[in-house]
Amino acid sequence: MLKSMAQYRIQPLTLTLGHLYPDQLNLYGDRGNILTLRRRCQLRGIELRVVGLGVGDALAPDEYDMLFIGGGQDKEQAPVAQDLYEMKGIGLWAAIEDDMPVLAVCGGFQLLAHYYRPAEGPDMRGLGVFDAWTEHKGSQVARCIGNIALRWNGQTLVGFENHGGRTYLGTAKPLGTVLKGHGNNAEDQTEGAIYRNAYGTYLHGSLLPKNPHFADYLIELALQRKYGYQADTEPQLLNGNRTSTTSENGSTVLELQKTNLSPLLTPLEDSLEWEAHASILERLGLYSEAAAVLRTHKR
Ligand code: GLN
Repeated sequence: MLKSMAQYRIQPLTLTLGHLYPDQLNLYGDRGNILTLRRRCQLRGIELRVVGLGVGDALAPDEYDMLFIGGGQDKEQAPVAQDLYEMKGIGLWAAIEDDMPVLAVCGGFQLLAHYYRPAEGPDMRGLGVFDAWTEHKGSQVARCIGNIALRWNGQTLVGFENHGGRTYLGTAKPLGTVLKGHGNNAEDQTEGAIYRNAYGTYLHGSLLPKNPHFADYLIELALQRKYGYQADTEPQLLNGNRTSTTSENGSTVLELQKTNLSPLLTPLEDSLEWEAHASILERLGLYSEAAAVLRTHKR
């Protein structure tokens, strides 16, 4: 069934990303994650539509294929926490239980766990997607600030962190293990959390420009979920090799050239991204990891 559908597909592939609280939660270039996802989709001829969801907007899970929520200062998180719980909680849970890929950075990550206890003011109730909780140790305790690198899936992820809150995992699985930096709490070497296809992390910077493998991983999850493609079973359709024709009503129809590449997404020329990745590893003194990255991804 799927093969016949793929052979007759004439419309470009599209993904819709819901960007939660783009005006309130956008620290340290978090918006760069959206730009990266859009660009990496575009280079494969996939259209990524981005819809902003602010305070007061309901979240209808069927309208989205991916969700992103960024970080913010305590004062920005408080109004968002209430809206997230009251307006978007049910929709977000439904999306996550249905394996929608979700990326939650720092303050957004904290609000997808059970609660965030800020330095001042009442606890912010979270959605409890991640079995974890966060407590700010108070302004007299140093914040977790600086470049950070972690081991993820046998590879490295790099970024920048700046958080006062310390997150402790219950049964939630960490995203990775800290190689250098603070991570969730500067105590147990865990970083981030995973629940189904929802990923929480403290990595700002923004995260995805310097971690093209993680960006593609999220795009693949969304394509597999929406189109049911399986990386190793389906002829690769997403390589950008297309011919375009004009239909009767004048709109451009893209004819897809089928190839048998896997994985699901055509590799891109990412040497700049990997040089930036390796430069963070070098700055952290992780020279052998940096050399391995440059060896693996050299031009
Ligand atoms: N306000 C939260 C904290 O300080 C999150 C910070 C952030 O999103 N960078 O821990």
